[in-house]
Amino acid sequence: MINFNLSEEQRALQNLARKFSMKEISPVALQYDKEPAFPEEIIKKAHAAGLMNLTCPREYGGQGMGLVNASLITEEMNAACVAISGMIGINSLACGPILIAGSDEQKRSFLIPLNQAGQTASFGLTEREAGSDAAGLKTLAKLEGDHYVLNGQKCFITNASYAALYTIFATIDPAKGTKGICGFIVPRESPGLSIGKVEDKMGHRALNVAEVNLENVIVPRENLLGKEAEGFKIAMETLDEGRVNIATCGVGLARAAFEAALDYAKKRVQFGKPIGTFQALNFMLADMAAAVDSARLLTWYAGSLADAGKRFTREAAQAKFYATDVAMRVTTDAVQIYGGYGYTKDYAVEKYMRDAKLQQIFEGTNQVNRIVAGGALMRG
Ligand SMILES: Cc1cc2nc3c(=O)[nH]c(=O)nc-3n(C[C@H](O)[C@H](O)[C@H](O)COP(=O)(O)OP(=O)(O)OC[C@H]3O[C@@H](n4cnc5c(N)ncnc54)[C@H](O)[C@@H]3O)c2cc1C
Repeated sequence: MINFNLSEEQRALQNLARKFSMKEISPVALQYDKEPAFPEEIIKKAHAAGLMNLTCPREYGGQGMGLVNASLITEEMNAACVAISGMIGINSLACGPILIAGSDEQKRSFLIPLNQAGQTASFGLTEREAGSDAAGLKTLAKLEGDHYVLNGQKCFITNASYAALYTIFATIDPAKGTKGICGFIVPRESPGLSIGKVEDKMGHRALNVAEVNLENVIVPRENLLGKEAEGFKIAMETLDEGRVNIATCGVGLARAAFEAALDYAKKRVQFGKPIGTFQALNFMLADMAAAVDSARLLTWYAGSLADAGKRFTREAAQAKFYATDVAMRVTTDAVQIYGGYGYTKDYAVEKYMRDAKLQQIFEGTNQVNRIVAGGALMRG
């Protein structure tokens, strides 16, 4: 027997996140899209409400939730604004490497102060010449006595301008490929670390994304995550969880677009009838509803495997590409249902459509996620 009902506790989490999002995020989402800024006050309120660091264990200052419960919250917040919610939720990606591979000492030293203060972090893997091919990264880590010296540049780093710490991936030898990569915890105040170009983006306007320059940055040996050369594995495991999270963001965004389109289709009258009664649009709405529901189920399934301690790499990749493709399709259809008005900035649906595009690109493009899922299928 499969139980699709949420428990009372889960419903309470969902309600808390829904109320918070409707009060604190929805009313300012369009304003932050027009004039991007660091949503500091909203982050502070989310932290106070227990809506940050959802999957980090309580002993390290987090909420100690599994991925399914976290996704109930994340869906609500992303239905309000993916960019503001992305800034609130960035620690789940940024601190993933520490949770996966960090020692108890590292978790206590870095996660507790970060989480207690409501600060945010960044995950630094991508480089200009190493995007999908992350194993080709060139940022160099040279061991000199009791510390490493980091030199290189990371690009497209979410929250880079505001992070209190960075999890950075660098190589001890580029010729070693995946076998040379190490993960490091790099505090913001490290001399030689600076922020470069801040990206001006099509959507997710309030999501800060910038370059991180590393020039002779000294990182104590005790900030190495796991053992030397385990970095690639740590990054990939982090992305497994991250992909369930991005799938949830896709579900939230698609749901928001669908609900807006349904509401509009009931109210907008042409030829003397609500436009939602025309079969062409009525079928479009039925397809949108089915797509949102199926994306959510696939996402919860991937999360439930993770929560049960089972392998979930394939299911996470499937949920990510499916749910974010759904978000792109549903937001595009929502603009279509709004007609000319959907193409203006007077309605949120044009923002939804711009926001959806990124979800198909980051945390592994949807082509790369199909490679991950397809590869797992062939390996049996
Ligand atoms: C707003 C934003 C935020 C981001 N945040 C972060 C972050 O916080 N931390 C971080 O480390 N990175 C981050 N990224 C980077 C993101 O993960 C990369 O952009 C993504 O992995 C793709 O890399 P790329 O942009 O270099 O594209 P490329 O790798 O150059 O890909 C270009 C195209 O080629 C396709 N392609 C590439 N290889 C293959 C293949 N083998 N088979 C089929 N198709 C292929 C891709 O799917 C894509 O369509 C962010 C990016 C953006 C835009």
